[in-house]
Amino acid sequence: MLKLRNSLTGELEEFQPLEEGKVRFYSCGPTVYNFFHIGNARPFIVFDGLRRYLQFKGFEVEFTQNVTDLDDKIINRAKKEGVEPGELAKKYADAYFEDLKALGVRPADNQPRVTEYVEEIVEYVEALIEKGYAYEMAGEVFYRVREFEDYGKLSGRTIDDLKSGARVEVDVRKEDPLDFALWKSSSEGEPSWDSPWGRGRPGWHIECSVMAQKTLGDTIDIHAGGEDLIFPHHENEIAQAESRTGKQFAKYWLHNGLLKVKGEKMSKSLGNFEYARDVLKRYDKETIRYFYFATHYRKPLNFSEKNLQDAASAVDRVYELLDRVEKAGLEYEADKEPETTGGKEFSSRIDDLREEYEEEMDKDFNTPGGLGVIFETVKETNKFLDEGGNEDLFLAAKAANVIRTLGKPLGLFQEERNRSIGGLEEELMELILGLRNDLREKEEWDLADEIRNQLRGLGVEIKDTEGETNWRKKC
Ligand SMILES: [Zn+2]
Repeated sequence: MLKLRNSLTGELEEFQPLEEGKVRFYSCGPTVYNFFHIGNARPFIVFDGLRRYLQFKGFEVEFTQNVTDLDDKIINRAKKEGVEPGELAKKYADAYFEDLKALGVRPADNQPRVTEYVEEIVEYVEALIEKGYAYEMAGEVFYRVREFEDYGKLSGRTIDDLKSGARVEVDVRKEDPLDFALWKSSSEGEPSWDSPWGRGRPGWHIECSVMAQKTLGDTIDIHAGGEDLIFPHHENEIAQAESRTGKQFAKYWLHNGLLKVKGEKMSKSLGNFEYARDVLKRYDKETIRYFYFATHYRKPLNFSEKNLQDAASAVDRVYELLDRVEKAGLEYEADKEPETTGGKEFSSRIDDLREEYEEEMDKDFNTPGGLGVIFETVKETNKFLDEGGNEDLFLAAKAANVIRTLGKPLGLFQEERNRSIGGLEEELMELILGLRNDLREKEEWDLADEIRNQLRGLGVEIKDTEGETNWRKKC
C-alpha cells in the first residue's frame, strides 16, 4: 500500500484516490521567460517518476502540468529584448518541451497555457466576486484573504503571522495588505484581454486553480510542486478553489525539497544556477535522473560535480552488468528450471525483488530505497556470474530483466547497450586484448601481465575466464 507524506496534514497517509484505480494529478509548471535551470528540473523529474510509479502499480493517471506563458517576468524580459511577450513566451515554451524530452520526462496528458484560459479565468473571478471572496478596485480584482476561514492551513501560518510580515506593504488599492491580485490592469503595450473590470490580465495564482479544476475536476487527488511554492502560491490556490466550490481542492499535497549549491538555494536571482540544457551537455539524462532519485524527493539536495560524477558511476555499474549478461549471450527461458542449489536460491531471490522494491517505494516514494534493491541485485548477479561454471547462468538474464523492469518507473536502465562503452573505445580494447591473447598463447606471461597492470592503472579491469577475456571500467 502506497503511503505519501501529505504536506496538508504533515502525516504519512495511505494513498486512496477519490475514484478507485484513477489518479488526478496536477503539478505546477514553469513560467516561460527563460530556459529552466537544473534546480527547476527537480519537480519535473521527481513527479514524472511518481506518475510512472503510480502507473507501474496499476493506476490510471491523468496528469496536468501548466505553462505560465503570461506573467510580469515575461513582459519585463520581452521589453528588455525588444520582442513581443507572446513571441518570447513561445520561444521558451518550445525550449521547455525540448529540455523535458532530453531529460526523459514524458509529456503531461494536459498542458494548458494561461493565454488559452483567460476566458475561464474571468468567469472564475466573477464567481469569486459574487460569493464575496473577491472585490474590484479601480480595474483590478483582489482576493479577500480574511474571508476564507481556512487560510493558512497548508503553510501553517496564521493571519496574525501574515499581518506582521505584510506590514511593510502599503497598497491603497487593497482593503487589506494580505489580499492578493486575481486580475491586474495592463499598461499600454502590455498583453491584455477584455473583462468586466476593463482590459487586463490574470494574476499568477488564479491560473493554477482554474487550469487544475478545468482539466481534472473540482477535487483532485494530488497537487505537487516545489516546497518554495507552499506559500503564498499553493495557499492561495487552495483559497481560490475551495471558496469557489466549497469542496476540498486537493487530497494530497506533495512538495519536493530544493536543489542547493554550497548550502544556498539554486535560483536565478542568486545567479548560482546552471541551465538544464547545459548540464545535459556534460551528463546524460539517466545520470541526471539518477542524481535526483538517489535522494528522497522531500530532502534538500546538493548540486555538485562530484555528486553528478557519483551518479554517472552508479548508472555505469548497472549498465556494466546488463552488458555483461548480453555479451555472454545469456537469455532467460521462463520454463527452464534451475538445476543447482545455488541456481534455485538465486532464482527465488529474484522472484522476491519486485515485492522488496515496492515495499521501499511505497514508503512515500522512497526512490533511494528502490535503487538500493536494484543495486543489491546487481551485486548478487555479478557474484552469481563470477562463481559461474554451472548450468544456471541463464538466470542472470532473468535478473537483468527484473533490473530493467524496476528501473522503468524512474526512467532508468532502459537503453539497449552499455552507454559508456562503444565506438573507438570498444574497438581499441578488442585490439589490446587480442594482442594480449597472442602473447599468452606464446606464453609471454610477463608481458601479458604488464598489459593487465597498465590497464588497471587506467581504471580498466580485465578478467580471464574459460578462455575468454572480459573487461570493464572500474567505478
Ligand atoms: Zn501553480
